[in-house]
Amino acid sequence: MNNIFEQHESEVRGYCRNFPAVFVSAKGAWMTDENGERYLDFFAGAGVMNYGHNPDKLKEALLDYITRDGITHSLDMYTQAKRDFIQRFEQVILRPRGLSYKLQFPGPTGTNAVEAALKLARKVTGREQVVGFTNAFHGMTLGALAVTGNGFKRAGAGVPLQNTTSIPFCGFMGDDPDTLGFFEAMLQDNGSGLEKPAAVIVETVQAEGGVNVAAIDWLQRLRDITAAHGILLIVDDIQVGCGRTGKFFSFEEAGIVPDIVTLSKSLSGYGIPMALVLIKPEHDQWAPGEHNGTFRGHNPGFVTATKALDYWENDWLEKAVAHKSKIVHDRLQAMVKRLDVTASIRGRGLIWGVAFDDPTLASQVSQACFKDKLIIETAGMEDQVLKLLPSLTISDEGLTLGLDTIEKCLAMVLHRNARHTTETAEMAETVEDALISA
Ligand code: PLP
Repeated sequence: MNNIFEQHESEVRGYCRNFPAVFVSAKGAWMTDENGERYLDFFAGAGVMNYGHNPDKLKEALLDYITRDGITHSLDMYTQAKRDFIQRFEQVILRPRGLSYKLQFPGPTGTNAVEAALKLARKVTGREQVVGFTNAFHGMTLGALAVTGNGFKRAGAGVPLQNTTSIPFCGFMGDDPDTLGFFEAMLQDNGSGLEKPAAVIVETVQAEGGVNVAAIDWLQRLRDITAAHGILLIVDDIQVGCGRTGKFFSFEEAGIVPDIVTLSKSLSGYGIPMALVLIKPEHDQWAPGEHNGTFRGHNPGFVTATKALDYWENDWLEKAVAHKSKIVHDRLQAMVKRLDVTASIRGRGLIWGVAFDDPTLASQVSQACFKDKLIIETAGMEDQVLKLLPSLTISDEGLTLGLDTIEKCLAMVLHRNARHTTETAEMAETVEDALISA
């Protein structure tokens, strides 16, 4: 059935290996394959489908736009669709939060936004170095890869990844060690060997890196340190922005204002590729066309993104996320306790991770869940973290069904492994007995 993909598509393909169904349609939190099997989606396109698949209001706006022969492609020329988005973003997102940013539309993927942010920070400060964090993930193009932690992905570059320094993320060295104290001391001492960086780039929750949550006071301190040293702070909100942690921006809870913010994934709200770089006005030092691209500000994306901002006219979604966040947290805690498995539960909003002590468990559970028609991914350097990323609009029933499936599959995997261990031990004893009696 999947031969056509295996024969012709590059070996680089990834997610389809874990979820080898051929999908044809999707609605809300559900995806359907070509055999009519329905899968509950706890992956949400790695953070692209925050509002669920094919939300009606966004679909209507898109269909209407297409039916009217609305302009699809326009490079970065002015269009009504772009104006509507800018006005609405200003009105619904920026102004109510007291934020003042210029909007740059780079190429449509997250890594495009990160490249633009890094280039701009270097240009504005005239410095070369950028500091990133352990286990960070910022994308696959060379600049973004240079601030990404994952050694496997970095090795794929094939050239040296330069002009970056990686420092320990919050919690990287256990609960106590003060990772930012180390950074601050390095910045203050001219003998440290650390060149003053142009920028620090950070995810408030490292999603791909294993659902590592930065403490709120850690983020505040990072903002203070960078401000004191004239270093730009870039918050990469590509995966955990657009409401994933509850508020529109993941840094809002910390009350900090980054110099540059990158957004993509759920920005269009419909899975249409779209990215945005928010730049403090004084840092908008681009020369015209200095950073360009053919697909900047794709109009169908503007149309659905504008409509998606309706979710942010009031606090309904934020409250819904807080409510579901508690359901997930409480259930995961109870689950690991009941099944007596050692794991740490971490997350914010509707991104949660179960980091098992046994690093093989997460993949086993993910595979078992897929057989049981739940799509759920793993994260972390060793895929040791089961990562829950349902759409923010999922119903309580859908959420509970997914959590039930996880619990059932975890119990099954633990039971299977225990039986395997017992059988192996029994087998070893039999072999030993045989050897002794021989
Ligand atoms: N930054 C973060 C935080 C991400 O999670 C990702 C993708 O997962 C990216 C950047 C790269 O985005 P894209 O895959 O669209 O290039």
